[in-house]
Amino acid sequence: MILKTMPQSEIFSMRQKYKDTLIDAHNKQQEFLKNVKCLKCNSETQSRVNPVMPFSKNKVLPNIISKCVECAFEFDPYTDK
Ligand SMILES: [Zn+2]
Repeated sequence: MILKTMPQSEIFSMRQKYKDTLIDAHNKQQEFLKNVKCLKCNSETQSRVNPVMPFSKNKVLPNIISKCVECAFEFDPYTDK
């Protein structure tokens, strides 16, 4: 397979024609994830894309999983289970 890169000026030109619909959702998600605490010990967490199911239908952002930096408990930050 041969891959050709697009000229940078063409990429910038295309970006100006379309509204970025992901950045607002991404920023909102990042703000939410900064405040997620571990469900078991209430410590800080780190979030990453869920490697088991990275995407779901009808969602523009990838699925996230949070992991506690103290006890390593992993959980869905959008549930309380
Ligand atoms: Zn924990």
